[in-house]
Amino acid sequence: MGKVIIIGAGGVASVAAHKVAQNSDVFTEIMIASRTKAKCDVLAKAIEAKGLVPVGSIKTAKVDADNVEELVALFNEYKPDLCMNLALPYQDLTIMEACLQSGVNYLDTANYEPKDEAHFEYSWQWAFKDRFEKAGLTAILGCGFDPGVTSIYTAYAAKHHFDEIQYLDIVDCNAGDHHKAFATNFNPEINIREITQKGLYWENGKWVETEPLEIHKPLTYPEVGPKESYLLHHEEIESLVKNYPTIKRARFWMTFGEQYLKHLDVIQNIGMSRIDEIEYEATGLDGKPVKVKIVPLQFLKAVLPNPQELGENYEGQTSIGCRIRGLKDGKEHTYYVYNNCSHRAAYEETGMQGVSYTTGVPAMIGAMMFMKGLWKRPGVWNVEEFDPDPFMEQLNKQGLPWHEIHDGDLEL
Ligand code: NDP
Repeated sequence: MGKVIIIGAGGVASVAAHKVAQNSDVFTEIMIASRTKAKCDVLAKAIEAKGLVPVGSIKTAKVDADNVEELVALFNEYKPDLCMNLALPYQDLTIMEACLQSGVNYLDTANYEPKDEAHFEYSWQWAFKDRFEKAGLTAILGCGFDPGVTSIYTAYAAKHHFDEIQYLDIVDCNAGDHHKAFATNFNPEINIREITQKGLYWENGKWVETEPLEIHKPLTYPEVGPKESYLLHHEEIESLVKNYPTIKRARFWMTFGEQYLKHLDVIQNIGMSRIDEIEYEATGLDGKPVKVKIVPLQFLKAVLPNPQELGENYEGQTSIGCRIRGLKDGKEHTYYVYNNCSHRAAYEETGMQGVSYTTGVPAMIGAMMFMKGLWKRPGVWNVEEFDPDPFMEQLNKQGLPWHEIHDGDLEL
């Protein structure tokens, strides 16, 4: 049905590329392009070796996604129908701009964040709406798990189970163990920036700010049990309260273990989470001292375990869902919809751990929705603005089955 280009060759892109190849009736041609072409080649070969697509059929390319001209040249040469942006949030705007200049549709999993400021919001990407609409191109924003599936769960609840959603709590638990003292489950730089920010939630028509990780409580997750869960700011809250104005309170919770938080504390206290440049005396290739500028958090990323390599010894599962309270036919009801994903099963299928899997699979399904013409609408859209039903159906078929609890105790 269409040609796809995947930008990025990290954990999420690896899973998405596997799933795209598993659905070759929908994705007729595949290209993987990233900063390091060798990584794209390794990934393409691994997928072809599994017999998912013919050997030599996945194209690869080197591209700097910070550079609009390079992207446009690649898009004009390959002529994809859709670009799946699975690089980093820093590249969202350049990739969207290149899509507009070369007539390519767009999908991503994380909203734009400037490199020099740990701050994310949708305004930068929503500003592209008119241009995508006029160009007749579709841009699908936030199509991972959270944002992504959690937003679609909310849309599904609004469509089938509530007249009015009033309280929304998104709960994200990683009850896995990778047997490392400290590691992040996706790009360490992006992950640490997200967690060390102030918390934020929506209540009675306005944002309420908290200190980082200030609010926490134990929540019980299916098949996992109670886990201390911390209130964070998360991007899908911003679009969900706009698209569902009946919501009185919307919050996002994520679990962290004591060991993880202890390391995070030390990282912050010793200045390793800084995102400003510092001068450092390194050794040049000629063996002589040379002054270089480094960003401590980027340096830390270079020494931390690579999230892509956690899969082999990862045990346990993730459990992510939406706990919703609202009205149906004048009566109050609760609804909990969630998925549990085993790190081991994810690794056996794609070579990646569960966090990359739960992001890469929805990215592929979103791309499939576009290719099938089900989510094709000129403009820039968050996923909850499309019909959730065909997406929910595919979640069950593509490895992320969901479960529902009606009128249970939400604990929140
Ligand atoms: P990784 O760091 O593993 O992968 C990022 C990839 O992007 C790497 O291959 C990297 O290249 C490539 N890249 C970075 N900069 C550029 C550039 N300028 N030009 C071209 N390629 C570039 O990250 P993840 O796979 O863990 O995460 C990918 C995305 O998914 C992120 O945006 C993250 O925020 C998002 N995410 C979303 C979630 C959700 O549920 N919605 C959950 C988890 C992640 P190289 O290999 O050379 O470094």
